[in-house]
Amino acid sequence: MNNVPCPVCGRPTEQHIDGRCRDCFLKTVTLASIPLVIRTNICPMCGSVKKGKHWEDQNAEMEDLIHGVIEQALNIDSQASDVSTSIALTNSNPVIYRAHITVTANIKGVRAESRLNTEVRISKETCDACSRMAGGYYEAVVQIRAEGRFPDEHEQQQMVELVDEVVERQKQRGDRLAFITNAQELPEGTDIYLGSNSTARQAVRLAVERFGCRYSESPSLAGKRDGKDIYRITYSLRLPRLVPGDIIKVGEDTVLVNRSAKMTTGIYLESGLEFSEHTDRLKDVKKVADVDEAENAVVISVEPDTVQVMHPSTFKQVTIIKPAHFRGTGGEDVRVILMEDSFFILPS
Ligand SMILES: [Zn+2]
Ligand SMILES: [Zn+2]
Repeated sequence: MNNVPCPVCGRPTEQHIDGRCRDCFLKTVTLASIPLVIRTNICPMCGSVKKGKHWEDQNAEMEDLIHGVIEQALNIDSQASDVSTSIALTNSNPVIYRAHITVTANIKGVRAESRLNTEVRISKETCDACSRMAGGYYEAVVQIRAEGRFPDEHEQQQMVELVDEVVERQKQRGDRLAFITNAQELPEGTDIYLGSNSTARQAVRLAVERFGCRYSESPSLAGKRDGKDIYRITYSLRLPRLVPGDIIKVGEDTVLVNRSAKMTTGIYLESGLEFSEHTDRLKDVKKVADVDEAENAVVISVEPDTVQVMHPSTFKQVTIIKPAHFRGTGGEDVRVILMEDSFFILPS
C-alpha cells in the first residue's frame, strides 16, 4: 500500500481515505455550512428572542445571544467528531453582527477545518407577552380584601409585595404571562390584574399560607379564542379580621393576638397564658388596642406573684399580677400597654 498514486490527482500517497489522498478526500466533504444571513427577532421591551414561532426569555448578554443564534444555524456534517467552533464577532451597527466562524473536527480520522462568514441581523419585534401586557390582557383578578373591615395600607402593601414575589418567581420558571397588567386601589382594598391565571392561583395559595387569608373564586366568560371559551377568574382574597398585634377583649379578658387564620392564637395579657379559639367564635369581639401603642416602663421590683412597675406617664408605682412569661428581676425596661383602668406587660 506504500506510496500508491491517488486515483484523482495522481500524487503518491501513503494513506487512502475513501480511495483517495487526504487533500482529494477533503475536497469531497463539506464540514460545515451556514446561511449568509441569519435573521433573529428580539423583543425591545423584555429582550426575549423568537425561536420559530415561540418566544423564549433571554437573560444573556447580546454577544452570547448572537453566539447561540449562530450555533443553532450552523450545519455540521454528521460524520464529524471532536467538533470545536470559534466565533469572532464584529459589529459596526447595533443590529448587524458579522461573524467569522472556524469549525474544526475529525472526519474519518482526518482533521478538517472550515472557515465561514455570516451576518446576524436583529429585528425588533414586540413579543407575545409584551404586546398582551401593553394591550391590558389579563386572565385573573386578585382582590385584596379583609374580613369585616377594610385592610390597612400596610397590609395591602404586604399583599402587593407577595403578588410581586410570586410573579417574579413564576417568570423565572418560564410563565411568560406572569405579569401585572394593572393594580387598582379602591376604598375596600386593592385589585390586581394578572396576565396569568396560574400565577394568580399561586399568589392566592401563598396568601392563605402566609397570612391566613380565605378566598373565593368566580369565573366569568371573557370571550373565545380558537373556538374555546376563555374565562377570567376573580379571586376574592380576605385577610383575617384579626391581625397579629391586635389587642382584643374576649369576655372580661384582654388578649394579644399572635396569629389569626382558622384558629386565633395569642396570649391573655393579664396572666400571660396562651389563648386559642376558633376564629368563627370571635366574630363579635372588639379590638381595644394595638401592640404599636405600647410604651416603655421600668420594673421597680418583683415579688413571687406581682410586679411593681413605674407608670410611664404618672411615674407612680403600679402593682400588677406577674404574667407567666415575665422573667425579670427588677430594674429592667419592659413594653407595656396602658388601658383606661389597667396596665399590662407585653411578652418580650
Ligand atoms: Zn489526490
Ligand atoms: Zn417582550
